[in-house]
Amino acid sequence: MRVILAQPRGFCAGVIRAIDIVEQALARFGPPVYVRHEIVHNRHVVESLRAKGARFVEHLSEVPPGAITIFSAHGVARRVEEEARTRKLNVLDATCPLVAKVHGQGKRYVAQGRLVILVGHAGHPEVEGTLGQIAGPAVLVQTERDVEALDIAPTTPVAYITQTTLSVDDTRAVISALERRFSDIVGPDIDDICYATQNRQSAVRALAKVADVLLVVGAKNSSNSNRLREIGREAGVPSHLIADGSELDAAWVRGASVVGITAGASAPEELVEDVIASLRRLGPVEVSVQPGIEEKVEFRLPAELLRARRAATGT
Ligand code: SF4
Repeated sequence: MRVILAQPRGFCAGVIRAIDIVEQALARFGPPVYVRHEIVHNRHVVESLRAKGARFVEHLSEVPPGAITIFSAHGVARRVEEEARTRKLNVLDATCPLVAKVHGQGKRYVAQGRLVILVGHAGHPEVEGTLGQIAGPAVLVQTERDVEALDIAPTTPVAYITQTTLSVDDTRAVISALERRFSDIVGPDIDDICYATQNRQSAVRALAKVADVLLVVGAKNSSNSNRLREIGREAGVPSHLIADGSELDAAWVRGASVVGITAGASAPEELVEDVIASLRRLGPVEVSVQPGIEEKVEFRLPAELLRARRAATGT
């Protein structure tokens, strides 16, 4: 059996930064540190940080006053920031800079007097955070049908923004529907979408052309991992979302000569290796990497952590 790994796959710069923030906070301030929501949507990552002293909570009321508190990569609403201030929590914000950029876009459009339309998935923490950051009129749409159902006059000045784990390709149809529906509409530049989402989706499309079956390593609640599996299925390739090697079903790969593997942006590479190890238990496996984009994006840590690190190292 040949195994071809998508390039790129797995951790993006926002996830690496978020995990780094928790690890650095544990190292600089000592456990426990509190993390609101799963820092990224991956149980293995969460469990490993929990073992080092991170405590994951859903509500800030569970955090003792003054404690180190980290907001997850998905971002938070303004009321959560305000609650943290009221409770005098020591906040380190692991919101991905690209999510924060979407917040900034939404605020700018509201300041221009536009109604903001967020294209995203209802209930996702990033969507809740983004809607909660916009102090003005905002609505959520997920599909072209949602656009048709909007009870808003077609001449209303509107602006759209998008959830980061949807790519340009995902949102194109919904944005086209919005552009047909509204005469005064603006939106961000195409360059503003999340590079990692787009790159992983493009890579999986290419991989689907050569694979007989596709395995997407990622968590069930990971939006971008689910989307990678959908893309595989849309391309006509049987595609399965798999948390780690223990979930591999031998029937999925029976008779396959090429198994494609990718990983969501919150899935560590060791889980990809774990899946390959499970495949090896079924028979000989030859692994290669599909040529693709080498990502070089890095995001800086929050200033408070950089200062603490400098103070500790004297640099
Ligand atoms: S997928 Fe994109 S927006 Fe989300 S954390 Fe990674 S880099 Fe940031």
